[in-house]
Amino acid sequence: MTETIKVLFLDRDGTINEDTGSYVATRPQLKLIARAGEAVALAKAAGFRIVIISNQAGIARGIATVEQVEDVNLYLNELLTEAGASFDRCYYCPSHPQHPHPEYDRFAGCRKPETGMVERAIADFKAEGLTVDRDASFFIGDKLIDVECGLRASLHPILVRTGHNEEEICRRLGVVPEFVADDLYEAVTAHILR
Ligand SMILES: [Mg+2]
Repeated sequence: MTETIKVLFLDRDGTINEDTGSYVATRPQLKLIARAGEAVALAKAAGFRIVIISNQAGIARGIATVEQVEDVNLYLNELLTEAGASFDRCYYCPSHPQHPHPEYDRFAGCRKPETGMVERAIADFKAEGLTVDRDASFFIGDKLIDVECGLRASLHPILVRTGHNEEEICRRLGVVPEFVADDLYEAVTAHILR
C-alpha cells in the first residue's frame, strides 16, 4: 500500500537562512531569515513534507568540510525544530564543475540545476511506500538554478527575493517561476496556502 504525499522542496542558503555571501560553514554563520521557521511550520501543518536541496560546492573547493556542512544542517534542523518546523530530509551536493575532485565528481548530476537530489529524495520516499505528487509539490529558492531545477523536476517553482534575488536574471533568460515572493513566508502564505 502506498500513500501519496506533497513535498515542499527548499533551497537552504538565501531561502531559509541568510546568505552570508560565502559558504556557511559554522553554526554562528547560520541565521534564519525572518519568519522562515514560521513559514515552514505552516507548510508542515498543511501536510507538506519538507526537503532541503542544497548545493554545497565549498566541499569540492576545499572551503568547507563534509563534517562542517552536516553539522550546519543539523543545527538548521535544531533551529527549525524550535519553530515547530523540522525538515524530513536534507540533501546536499558537494561537487563543482570547475573544481574536479576524485571523490565528489560522481555527484555532478546532483548539482542544481540538475535534478539528481530531487529524484533521490523522491526515490527515498518511494522506498518508504510514499509516492510524491509532483503536481502538488513546490520548489522554492533564491536563484535561477533553483527555478530551473524545479521546472526540470516538474515541480511548481517559486523564486524568493531574499538571498541572491535573481528575479532579473530569470526574466532575462526566460526562466519563469510560477510565483515571485519577497521571502519564504510570503511564498507559503500568499501562494502555496492561499
Ligand atoms: Mg540559495
